[in-house]
Amino acid sequence: MKEENVFSPQTDQEELRDERSLRPKNLGEFIGQEKLKENLGVFIEAAKGRKEQLDHCLFYSPPGLGKTTLAHILANELGVNIKITSGPVLTKPGDLAAMVTTELSDGDILFIDEIHRLNTAVEEALYPVMEDFLFFINTGKGPGATTLKIQTPKITLVGATTRSGLLTGPLRDRFGIIFNLGFYETPEIEKILRRSAGILGVEADKAGLEEIAGRARGTPRIANRLLRRVRDFAQVRGKGVITPEIAVNAMTSLEIDAEGLDQLDRALLLAIAEKFSGGPVGIDNLAVAVGEETDTLTDVIEPYLIKAGFLQRTPRGRILTEKACRHLKIKKPKNADLF
Ligand code: ADP
Repeated sequence: MKEENVFSPQTDQEELRDERSLRPKNLGEFIGQEKLKENLGVFIEAAKGRKEQLDHCLFYSPPGLGKTTLAHILANELGVNIKITSGPVLTKPGDLAAMVTTELSDGDILFIDEIHRLNTAVEEALYPVMEDFLFFINTGKGPGATTLKIQTPKITLVGATTRSGLLTGPLRDRFGIIFNLGFYETPEIEKILRRSAGILGVEADKAGLEEIAGRARGTPRIANRLLRRVRDFAQVRGKGVITPEIAVNAMTSLEIDAEGLDQLDRALLLAIAEKFSGGPVGIDNLAVAVGEETDTLTDVIEPYLIKAGFLQRTPRGRILTEKACRHLKIKKPKNADLF
């Protein structure tokens, strides 16, 4: 068992296997994000009524909150096909042209995950597709150079990114619908767990699921992952049923504490306390101190620590909060007056 993977943003093998059954298929099955669902429902209905393609959509949130799921739901609700790709995979404008012109038809969805990682050439080729469903190909060189104009199907581009600020202005401006998915409340995570347990055929007490929900960092992907791990403990150390005792036992073994923090979270908070006197500390220095990539800290680790009130982002850097000191059972560090 690889504990360090529990909070990883990447989809693992087990998830790929369960994905089809666990992933909500329509807006009705998608739990939480009420305002977003309501608005999206209106936009879908309006596009269907006009028999037009849906406007381009951008979803941004930390990993695991439902961006890919929503793209699939859009395709389902609109009754169109969806083609999935990602920013780092589309390396040449030609790849994009081939995909849009040969694999998609009017109304279909092109989903680009990690859209902030598109290279400039591909991003610029995307602009006329988004605006006028046109693709320009330059042929030849020098005075004989010509530009070929190709009409593409009227597609809907759905982009996903971990931070909207990572997108260039011109790209962001071409999306008509932009949604930020926030972390889920614990009761919503509990609902997601109950649904997943039902689909996976796992028997669980209400209190057992509550125990897991409180440690899932408001993130459906992590909730489902913890459910699978606790199921293993229930099978091996219990009677196959997820009880609060089994859940706590499993979490202790995985070194996930009552607030859902793992070793890396605690190492990061302790580093601020011990190496930087409570902060403020720049994210790059912090990344070196804990031996992680800056992007991982910014996109994956930090958003939840800030949301849960353990960390504060200030113009001068990150600072530890009083709540973090209480949780780690440490004295307020030297720069305590910053609290
Ligand atoms: P992202 O694309 O934001 O990284 P995903 O859409 O892949 O996240 O979601 C991760 C998993 O969490 C999905 O497989 C899905 O099963 C589950 N999930 C996400 N959002 C919800 C939700 N609102 N209700 C139920 N399950 C969800």
